[in-house]
Amino acid sequence: MATDKIQRTLAMVKPDAINRASEIENIIREEGFTIVERRQLRLSRSEAEEFYGEHRGKPFFLNLIDYVTSGSVLVMILAGEDAISHWRRALGPTKVSAALNEAPSSIRARFGDQTDDSRNAAHGSDSVTSAQREIKFFFPDLTLEPVLTGEGAKEYLSYAVSPTLVRALTELCKVRPEDPIVWLADWLMVNNPNKPAVDE
Ligand code: UDP
Ligand code: MG
Repeated sequence: MATDKIQRTLAMVKPDAINRASEIENIIREEGFTIVERRQLRLSRSEAEEFYGEHRGKPFFLNLIDYVTSGSVLVMILAGEDAISHWRRALGPTKVSAALNEAPSSIRARFGDQTDDSRNAAHGSDSVTSAQREIKFFFPDLTLEPVLTGEGAKEYLSYAVSPTLVRALTELCKVRPEDPIVWLADWLMVNNPNKPAVDE
């Protein structure tokens, strides 16, 4: 897989769709995203106003703040190739009626409120800068290493991943377990070179 455009983006399931969050998460996985982090919370008005600060003063602003504070939201960091535009494409157009017309299989068409264009089920960052800001907004304590690409990625794999994987696969060939995937997962848990040296 090309690793030169691996990005992270912020996805949010809005209150109107929170009871269908697991269906939306399934779509996220089917689309090939990795869910790096997830958190369910209820936004206060001042948090919502800060998150949507770019829209302050617009005619729909108050309505938008009422909407996103009306119940819990689920926020997720998604990672994948071209994740920002990929997730925006999966969402479909901003307005539910436009989504229904132009992208009937999109998330906003399927999960948005057909009687209210604003209640469009989900959010996605619109640029690299917004993604960084929005991820920091919801996950301020998370340290995300830059996504390695090209030679850097190869080098990382060769010193951090391959040695353990080669040991694991060699062992797997010797043992020939009935369910190799489960066996490998268990082996990696036990032999994880990064696990804490002291049990908690
Ligand atoms: N919104 C609205 N009326 C509008 C435009 C936007 O109610 O005319 C709401 C809608 O819920 C949208 C959110 O405000 O998702 C943020 O608007 P933006 O233009 O950033 O659209 P998005 O990036 O979510 O597609
Ligand atoms: Mg936006």
